[in-house]
Amino acid sequence: MPPIPDITEVPAAELESLPAEAAISQHQVRGIFFGVLCSLGVFLGVVTLDGWLTRLPALNGTPARGERIGVLHVHTNLSCGSGSLPQVIGAARDADLSFLAITDHNLAMSQAAVNAADPPDFAVIDGEEVSTSTGHFLALGVSDTWSRGSSYDARTLLASARRAGSVNFIAHPFGLREHWHEWESPDYDGMEIWNDDAVWRQNGPLAMLTSLLLYPINSRLALVRLARTPTDNLAKWDQLQEQRHVAGICGSDAHAAITINNQTVARFPGYYSVFSLIRQHILLDADGDPNHASASDILSALKQGNAFCAVDALAPSDGFLQQVQSGSASGQPVGPGHSVVYTRGATLHVAVPAGSPPAMLRVLHDGQEIAKQQTQSIDLVLPGPGRYRAEAYLRQPGLTGFGRWTLWIFANPVQVTASASGSN
Ligand SMILES: [Zn+2]
Ligand SMILES: [Zn+2]
Repeated sequence: MPPIPDITEVPAAELESLPAEAAISQHQVRGIFFGVLCSLGVFLGVVTLDGWLTRLPALNGTPARGERIGVLHVHTNLSCGSGSLPQVIGAARDADLSFLAITDHNLAMSQAAVNAADPPDFAVIDGEEVSTSTGHFLALGVSDTWSRGSSYDARTLLASARRAGSVNFIAHPFGLREHWHEWESPDYDGMEIWNDDAVWRQNGPLAMLTSLLLYPINSRLALVRLARTPTDNLAKWDQLQEQRHVAGICGSDAHAAITINNQTVARFPGYYSVFSLIRQHILLDADGDPNHASASDILSALKQGNAFCAVDALAPSDGFLQQVQSGSASGQPVGPGHSVVYTRGATLHVAVPAGSPPAMLRVLHDGQEIAKQQTQSIDLVLPGPGRYRAEAYLRQPGLTGFGRWTLWIFANPVQVTASASGSN
């Protein structure tokens, strides 16, 4: 048996230091705990104040002649959404919209169901979100008479939907689950540049937490905080357009539902909040009354790219201008989705609505930035033929946005061709 050490052999200094170290350690733990608690309290206080004090502008601006505003990519309770079609239309009208596109998963509505819910001054575009082997696409303008068949092949489904009269847009091509690969198909008309669901996932945990805490106090601000620039989508869009026309749209991907095991456990974020965030503006022929445009008129404007998208919750973008004025005296200015033959002295005019907060404007020529300026309008002489499109940015409002420049508007390009035959 080893000898039991005599306590008197331990130096007195060591005996004193043991309890003292333990006491300091406990003291430190308590300090850290109270520090974290205080920081959390300050954070909660700042977020609450931000939600109370930050007022976003009203949604209704002054639309240009022929401009009409709506939302695309909306789910109802036919698939994973929480609202019926009349409820969804009600929320859209509350948000000052006059059209929407219904896109339930692999299921379009019957024409009778759409007609029954379709008020006279509101256009419902019937459609569905089609699941394929390489992701989802939006088939707009089809009803339940279109049958997808048993194929999951993206190219086959795109062609089949198009034969049924659909206008096809690739949905969330760089989403979390799968990335779209079938870019070579000739049977899509455009792509989602913005998809709420995909954009929100670009945020880190702190931004997500801030937004979650803001939501009960100021739901619109909560969603504005999650707005990010979809840079991958914009880059892919520019690249695709080197080959052919590809229209850009924004999809709300509104569900108003959090589901667990296919059961809706919360109606979050609500349809109204989502419809108040990013909105699809279409530019119809100014001679007609845009309020009487049919779903198919709206669809053909989307297909042509006569459209722009805006995070209107930051500020109403109604009346935004992006026009090319030909160098010849007789030429009329042309806007997004239109083309014009290049003439010497042709100019591009980009302007945000009067009274907007200070904006940052960016102009791209064939995908390359040629101007970036903090201003409300830009006029520049075109360097030559090509595609011209503009983006506008605004600073985040309120305390917890830290003044971050946030994508506000992006428009489909104006095509400036070298000759009347359309070549660049
Ligand atoms: Zn999807
Ligand atoms: Zn969806």
